[in-house]
Order: sequence, then C-alpha cells, then structure tokens
Amino acid sequence: MRDTFPLLVNTDFPAVRRGRLTTLQANLGYRCNQSCLHCHVAAGPARSEEMSWATMSLLLRFADRQGIASLDLTGGAPELNPNFRRLVVAAHQMGLHIIDRCNLTILNEPGQEDLADFLAAKDVEIVASLPCYLEENVDRQRGDGVFESSLIGLRKLNALGYGLPESGKTLNLVFNPAGANLPPSQPELEAAYKEQLATRYGIMFNHLLALANMPIKRFGSTLVSRHEFHDYMRLLKGAHRDANLAGVMCRTLISVSWRGHVHDCDFNQMLGLALGEGDTSIHLATLLDHQFEDRPIRVADHCYGCTAGQGSGCGGALAVPQTASLEAF
Ligand code: SF4
Ligand code: SF4
Repeated sequence: MRDTFPLLVNTDFPAVRRGRLTTLQANLGYRCNQSCLHCHVAAGPARSEEMSWATMSLLLRFADRQGIASLDLTGGAPELNPNFRRLVVAAHQMGLHIIDRCNLTILNEPGQEDLADFLAAKDVEIVASLPCYLEENVDRQRGDGVFESSLIGLRKLNALGYGLPESGKTLNLVFNPAGANLPPSQPELEAAYKEQLATRYGIMFNHLLALANMPIKRFGSTLVSRHEFHDYMRLLKGAHRDANLAGVMCRTLISVSWRGHVHDCDFNQMLGLALGEGDTSIHLATLLDHQFEDRPIRVADHCYGCTAGQGSGCGGALAVPQTASLEAF
C-alpha cells in the first residue's frame, strides 16, 4: 500500500483550534469481517490489533473527568473486540450517549446473533455504512453479498424499533462515493435513499450522513496507483469553504487509538499524527485533567476532505449543502 502522507504534509490548510470537547471517539481495533476498498484504516479479518480492557477503563475515567457526553466506538468492526459489550454496559451505566459505527453485516456473523438486541437494550445509536441503495453498487465497493447481508441487518434493527419514528432508537446510514468525487447533496440523497429503501425493501432509517473519501490509507493508495491522487486533491481544494472550518469534527472530539494514544481525529490517527502540534505520541492517561479548549489542531492537506463542498465529518455534511448532482455516485 502506498503511503500518501508525504504528499499531504506540506499544507496551506488554515489553522484550526479546538472548541469544547464533547465526544470521545475510540478505535477498538482493526479486525473486521469485511475488507472494503475505501477503508481508511485498512481493516480486515486478518488484523489482530485490539484495545485492551485497561485502556477501555481509562476511556471511562477520562469521560467522567472531562464531562464527555458521547462515546463514539469505531474500528474495524468495534463489536469484534472481546470487551465491546463490557465497555458498552459500563458507559451506559454512566449515562453516556453511545454510538456504534456498525457495518451491518456484523449483525449476522456467527456468535453475534444477539448483538442487535444488546445494542437496543443499551440505547446505542447505530451509524451504519450503506454506500448505495442498489445491490450491484454496494457489492462492487464492499464485497459480494454485502448488500444482502446488510438488508438482513437493517431488518433486524427495524424490528427492534431502530429507524422508526418516535421509537427513540436512532439508525443513521452512511454514504461515501465509490470513486474520486465529492458526495452529492446530503438532503437530496437522504430523500432518495428513504424512498428507495422503503419502496424496494421496506427499510426505514433516521438520517443519511454523506461523507467524503479521505486521500489516505487504502483509498489514497488506490488514487496514487490510478494516477488520480493529484486530480482528487485539486477537486477537494477547489471546493474548500472557509465556512466549514467552524464545524470540522476535530473541534469537539478526540480520537483514541487501540493503544490509548490520542489524536485530533480518526484520520490523523491513521496517519500517525499526534494530538496538537507536537510529534510525540500522547497517551490518554496523561490527559485526564488537560484543558482542550483553544488548543491548536494538527492539519495537513487531507483536511480539505472535511471542508470541501458541504463539508464532511463523522456526523455527515457540516454546512448548508451546495447543490450537487445525484449522478455523482
Ligand atoms: S466495514 Fe468499515 S471498518 Fe470494515 S473494512 Fe469496511 S470500511 Fe473498513
Ligand atoms: S482531517 Fe481531522 S484534523 Fe483535519 S479538519 Fe478533518 S477532522 Fe480536523
């Protein structure tokens, strides 16, 4: 895999400073039951890295000390960490809002048959990848059979109330483009997804989050090998909007690696960029009483992926969307 960081490090991206810290995002490990082309952590079934219970306990202590509102669990497939449920139970008892970044197919894996019931019982918000409502497009991007398995997962979630009006159980879907283009208008795409998933398959969900692909890791490497990297960077930079800087996710979250090291966001974690402006890894254990507000954030050219067009972050589009064609995906 080609490392794109040397192509990103010399940057003219504007300086960004932190706001109030509200969200603790934790990568529970790189093991996944899928191996998607765009995966920015290069996760897959053969990866064995996983967060220990000692580090998870530290997450909970940190959340308590810093008055964190949300614990956002990611991976790989976070549910494959053997202590995933123990962490969710403890965080739920603390009153934290828990988000599980779920790939849907994990709900059908052997040994995970009761996972959907568990998540519902602990009021876990589910954010689930579904890059298209058409089977051939999903399977091309994520692997054969992924769409069918995702539908089975979605039906399980709907049966538990997820995605249904006034159930209080939130099911958000994530879209990212298949290639080197920006996502289309999030509200327009959400309307199309809602109509298509309801009429074709009887599936319901709350919101669609349209995310831009970042030019790093597996997707970045693919861009380089297809000689599309520089065109994609030109696209991102040309679509940059200063207004999006106020909403970039790194202003309100920190990202913790499976080892307990802290980064300004998940993308910086994957690039090995330490929190703030220094180059030395910082462990969560040293930050229990840290003052985050107004501290500088480490930026590089990949940050244009967050500020291009309607903007992009873990919560989807950042700003009032510009008009973009649905033909883009
Ligand atoms: S499901 Fe998610 S974590 Fe797993 S390989 Fe695909 S993108 Fe990566
Ligand atoms: S890539 Fe990370 S550090 Fe850069 S703007 Fe986006 S969230 Fe912030």
